[in-house]
Amino acid sequence: MAKPQKNIIRLDELDMDFAEAVAKAGGEKINLCIQCGTCTASCPSGRRTAFRTRQLIRRAMLGFRDEVLSDKDLWLCTTCFTCLERCPRGVDPTDVIIALRNMAVEAGYMLDQHKRVSGYFVKYGHAVPINEENRKRRVSLGLSEIPPTTHKHKKALDEVQGILKKMGFDKLIGFKWEKGEE
Ligand code: SF4
Ligand code: SF4
Repeated sequence: MAKPQKNIIRLDELDMDFAEAVAKAGGEKINLCIQCGTCTASCPSGRRTAFRTRQLIRRAMLGFRDEVLSDKDLWLCTTCFTCLERCPRGVDPTDVIIALRNMAVEAGYMLDQHKRVSGYFVKYGHAVPINEENRKRRVSLGLSEIPPTTHKHKKALDEVQGILKKMGFDKLIGFKWEKGEE
């Protein structure tokens, strides 16, 4: 179901430089959008949810920065790239969405689920760490119980964690290191 719209738009609540910021963040061609709606009509996610690609891009172009960045629907795109292939103006809507997501995270809007998965990545070097079931399955397939990744190589994990710390990714997601790991 479409979301209720605000009846009154206050100009002083809009960020007139927002579209430019999105363009600089990777959604370079956002301002080419002519609001034809091909992206929305093509979007497999929008068929099952309230997510509307065209509307998201329109709001971003108009400067509804906080509304756009805090909107949970921003995370419903599966990055399938259908809209990117079909957009008649070459806006590359998927790139716009990825840029908006990066901006959302920098502004502190991140879903708890994403924080959890990111936490696994910081701790194990894998967003989906191996579990008991997969260990058993690997053995049954004749593979080593532990894959030759950061799970097996502590040095590689240290390197990944070093990079993430330098980038401040651990702080960004509020990751809590255990004693001695900081
Ligand atoms: S398909 Fe392209 S031009 Fe049309 S509304 Fe979507 S982004 Fe804008
Ligand atoms: S890339 Fe995202 S917005 Fe575009 S069609 Fe796929 S799910 Fe929809």
